Amino acid sequence: MTTLSEDQIRRICAEVDRRFDEQLAFTMDLVRFPSLREHERAAQDFMAEAFRARGLEVDRWKIDVEALKRHPGASPVASPYAEAYNVVGTHHSEYNNARSLILNGHIDVVPTGPEHRWRSPPFQPVVRDGKLYGRGAGDMKGGIAAMVFAYDSVRAAGLTPKGRIHLQSVVEEECTGNGAFACLLRGYTADAAIIPEPVGEELTRANMGLLWFKVTVPGDPAHASGAYTAGVNAIERGWLIWQHLKGLEARWNAERHAHPHYCDHPHPVRINLGKMQGGEWVSSVAAQCVLEVRAGLYPEWSIEKGKAEIEAVIAEAAALDPGLPAPVVEYHGFHNGGYILEPGGEAEGVLSAAHERVAGEPLKAYASTASTDSRIFGVFGSIPSLVYGPSCTAAHGIDECVDIESVRRVTKTIAVFIADWCGVAEA
Ligand SMILES: [Zn+2]
Repeated sequence: MTTLSEDQIRRICAEVDRRFDEQLAFTMDLVRFPSLREHERAAQDFMAEAFRARGLEVDRWKIDVEALKRHPGASPVASPYAEAYNVVGTHHSEYNNARSLILNGHIDVVPTGPEHRWRSPPFQPVVRDGKLYGRGAGDMKGGIAAMVFAYDSVRAAGLTPKGRIHLQSVVEEECTGNGAFACLLRGYTADAAIIPEPVGEELTRANMGLLWFKVTVPGDPAHASGAYTAGVNAIERGWLIWQHLKGLEARWNAERHAHPHYCDHPHPVRINLGKMQGGEWVSSVAAQCVLEVRAGLYPEWSIEKGKAEIEAVIAEAAALDPGLPAPVVEYHGFHNGGYILEPGGEAEGVLSAAHERVAGEPLKAYASTASTDSRIFGVFGSIPSLVYGPSCTAAHGIDECVDIESVRRVTKTIAVFIADWCGVAEA
């Protein structure tokens, strides 16, 4: 079903191999940028330069917070955006009927945890046993490098893509998705999108919805030397609320059989207590505690349904301490439903053929318990959005790494996809 000749595919894959050392060095350069939230700008400048060096038209802009706030689908802007720049490199097309493509990756990475527990420092990438280690090596700088070098390899093979291609490096994937949303609001669209998140060379069939919420729990402060009944400890009250949220997680998981994409998954819903802070003095009964929580939602659910059930459980737990002010719930990050890629689309067919050609086996699809930027293109842009990328170990954990040969295969698959999807002219 491919539009490419055997010779063209062979040339493209050979170019991936030929520049693979350079690709690995580029990935390591990216990992050296500690592009944590509010520190993304230097890495984005590097990406802008990389796009410019390839002759792409470069658009680098600061995210328009007001435009995001006006769109009901965007997540709340709850942190400073002073450093939140997006970069898009565009390959223009002279052909009218060719299919266009978005290649999208996120430059932001999550915090490292205690650095002394890493075998090597998280922002000093190293190769060991066929894997590249470092924070972001897998999630997802390996994928960003793959999409850039996939594009390079098509061109280096003497082929010019006929369709328009946007290479996007975005911020805010790890907390809101507002970076990808800003690309859509700026007018970037295409006939398909590929996001090379580290998903083990499989296609993501479904993504969960996701909510971040913050619960501020009031206590009743008192001198800790008082009667053991004196005061109400806000940290203990917060912990009680957390136990009730774990109960909600169990209830939601128990109904997985009603959700076709997740019925075989042992534990699709994760409600995670990511942060907990409380108290101000060791000899005072804690006056306040703040929980910050991430909750997955089945893709068939509305965000409102998820919020209503979460708030009901918090209210129920809080009522066990009568007479105290109610906890306050705020939504301060991810605020989105899920995404299902309906099977049988043309883009999926082209990706399946490319994957099978490179990997030598059929493309498998799986349902993810995470959320990705695919929903933004898929739901709000009506762009079929394919999440497909390399194998990674310990994303968000200690000693994160990406499998180097997996990156090579994914790069070839994406390169063949670009050429087949967009069409090519011999240069
Ligand atoms: Zn990611």
